[in-house]
Amino acid sequence: MDRIDFRSDTVGWPTPEMREAMATARVGDDVYGEDPTVNELEALAAEMLGKEAGLFVTSGTQGNLVALLGHARRGDEAILGYESHIFQWEVGGMASIGGILPHTLPTDAMGRMDPAAVDAAVRDTTDHHYGHSRLLLVENTFGGRGGVPLPAEYFSALRRIADKHSLAMHMDGARLFNAAVALGVEARELVADVDTVTFCLSKGLCAPVGSILCGPTEFIEEARRTRKSLGGGMRQAGILAAAGLVAMNSMIDRLADDHAHARLLAQQLAEIDGVNVKPKTVQTNIVFFELEGSKGISRERLCARLDKEYEIGLDTYPPNFLRAVTHYWVGEKEVGALVEAVAEIIRTGGGE
Ligand SMILES: *Cc1c(COP(=O)(O)O)cnc(C)c1O
Repeated sequence: MDRIDFRSDTVGWPTPEMREAMATARVGDDVYGEDPTVNELEALAAEMLGKEAGLFVTSGTQGNLVALLGHARRGDEAILGYESHIFQWEVGGMASIGGILPHTLPTDAMGRMDPAAVDAAVRDTTDHHYGHSRLLLVENTFGGRGGVPLPAEYFSALRRIADKHSLAMHMDGARLFNAAVALGVEARELVADVDTVTFCLSKGLCAPVGSILCGPTEFIEEARRTRKSLGGGMRQAGILAAAGLVAMNSMIDRLADDHAHARLLAQQLAEIDGVNVKPKTVQTNIVFFELEGSKGISRERLCARLDKEYEIGLDTYPPNFLRAVTHYWVGEKEVGALVEAVAEIIRTGGGE
């Protein structure tokens, strides 16, 4: 990799082992249910997460949308954190395609909703003014707060409230395995209390394309129809699933390296005058930091100079953060290059 890219963990390439597996994958028409590699991947994912069935989808966004459409109908409400990915970054699909009303709640510094606030947000079903509250949406790791891994107890607490009001629970677990590795637990423990969960193969796990939605057999069968209606009926998708199998079988444990590199990055950035970062809050592969008194250099200017002069990708993140994400293709050397470049740009005053 010539360029160094910290914009996301989605920017990396499939590993050589993945390309080999893709080249030799056994395939069939998955719309007929005949792709053996897709079937193997779906079964493996379901087993690893302790769910009955899995569905290979094109993306995390599609997996979440398919799940939402299965859990709620038009006019129903879904309760979710204001900072959650489904509300902020998925094009409003739940509303535009599903007619589902997002009922957002604030989240704390770790991305958690207050269980009492969730309880209070549920609509009174006897009052004809309200839509029905159907669904509670959670996220792990919580991206909008810098990739916080949330423990099983949080989801158990929410499950009790969901049960009290007969709400379904869906987890956007795009980086679920980062959470599991960071917390030192099995991923299945983190999803035991949710009905359905989506996770991405295409982020830290390095597969080129794809996510998996897991849940009860009947739900997944219906989700298969919904996925088709959204244009997600893929044919010889085993080519992609082959990389997904490598991801599941050999890329999970090494996420610990990404987390170590993120911590290292945060510690080194903290040494730079003009950078504000809290290394202690970095628990997985995402580092949020701010420019502070750095000679008036804007975030955008910093990113532009990194891109042009150093061939390093870095992005801004609302409201006023810069976000660096570590992954398979950036190690200690790349972390060092980023830190040095940021220090130099700040030292030289942005070079307007
Ligand atoms: C990336 C991401 C998604 C969406 O996944 P895509 O494959 O990019 O559609 C959903 N939720 C979270 C928390 C994510 O980080």
